[in-house]
Amino acid sequence: MNYKSMPGSVILQTLNAAGYEAYYVGGCVRDICLNKVPKDYDITTNALPDTVEALFENTIPTGKAYGTITVMIEAEAFEVTTYRLESDYDGRRPRAVAFAQTLVEDLSRRDFTMNAMAMDLSGHIQDPFNGQGDLKSGVLRFVGDPLERIREDKIRILRYIRFLCQYNLKPFDEKLLKSDVLDLGQLSAERIREEFNKILLSDCPEVGIKMLEEMGVLKQFFPELSACNGFIQHHPAHNEDVFNHTLSVLALCENNLMLRLSALCHDLGKIETLTFDEKGIGHFYGHQKNSAALAENMMRRLKYANKEIELVTTLVSFHMRIYEHVSKASAKRLLNQLPSEALEILFLLQLADTKACAGDRSEGIRQIEDMRLMCRTLLEVNEAFSIKDLAVNGHDLMQIGINGPLIGQRLNELLEAVISEQCLNEKTALLDWLFQLK
Ligand code: ATP
Ligand code: MG
Repeated sequence: MNYKSMPGSVILQTLNAAGYEAYYVGGCVRDICLNKVPKDYDITTNALPDTVEALFENTIPTGKAYGTITVMIEAEAFEVTTYRLESDYDGRRPRAVAFAQTLVEDLSRRDFTMNAMAMDLSGHIQDPFNGQGDLKSGVLRFVGDPLERIREDKIRILRYIRFLCQYNLKPFDEKLLKSDVLDLGQLSAERIREEFNKILLSDCPEVGIKMLEEMGVLKQFFPELSACNGFIQHHPAHNEDVFNHTLSVLALCENNLMLRLSALCHDLGKIETLTFDEKGIGHFYGHQKNSAALAENMMRRLKYANKEIELVTTLVSFHMRIYEHVSKASAKRLLNQLPSEALEILFLLQLADTKACAGDRSEGIRQIEDMRLMCRTLLEVNEAFSIKDLAVNGHDLMQIGINGPLIGQRLNELLEAVISEQCLNEKTALLDWLFQLK
């Protein structure tokens, strides 16, 4: 690799030419060692923030008090941070930041050995804690004493699990899983959410969620899911408890955050809705509504965006839909209820849920696939399935004397007539249909 042509290399060159040390550091060096393409390139230097600002034309004082200046090179942003020492932690962030003199001091404040490496312009790697060795043996190891490092900053509990799943590593020490420092303390909802999302978007999210539960961490920010652990379903289709069934569904979901969040939430409401029939079999009538409400609680607590909350609660509420009679009309009714992007995620959720249940599921899977195909075909041929696709609108109805709430009602009746192929979607046909109703 030609390191001199790496993104941001001009920043290292400029700093070096002005007499300062400068290195790529953290995630990008780790990813280069793993032959992965880095997401972004962070730089560390012994130049002070004022100097960094003076050396580059286009800068943003992103976290100047903490030593970070964003340097813009054309449209690309690079975080340039002065060597730092952190001291006097309160479990969330350092109370004080002091600039350090040496690269090794800066590397020693970083969380894991594989994240504590730096690389200069010639591609030479500084690796004082043997991050490369740990990467080779597939181990995630804290820099320094793990319990102390976790006490300093509780987010490292979640980062630990996140990196284990993202990079498919082994814990360096199983005992950590049962330690008493594993309370998240006063971490902000946003920081928890960001790490939680990264766990969910990793290659093996089900392993991460299971680990969170075993470490007693899940119940601290998602008690609704933790409560499902050990909740037996008393039903022949369910040989797993709700928690383990949820993990099986999650494992079958492709890498899409909304899909995976919906998978985690889809059965949360089973605890509240369990009833037994005369044969002692468990049922959970209407649990999808309870699940949606519990999903909303969790997502509001973790401050997800409103549109994400709306999508996940919709998917969860719809996950019990069955498609016994797949027809053009039933597919159009479904398309009218859900936007097509949500519908595609719903099918993926339902396929995963169905496959994760015990017994022969081929009939259920076929029905979902049939409905999915029917919806796709209808979307391609541009047929009417919502009021806005009708050849008449509210104005047309007002012109023939229909007013107020009746407009919406009549449009819905027209749509149903078009969907069930009782009326053509043409203006005169639709107006005739209305006259016939009167
Ligand atoms: P990603 O690829 O997800 O961005 P990353 O390793 O770059 O992974 P960041 O959160 O962007 O992770 O952090 C950049 C670097 O800063 C890390 O590689 C690590 O060296 C250091 N770091 C970040 N957060 C912490 C923390 N809480 N404690 C110690 N070091 C940290
Ligand atoms: Mg990063």
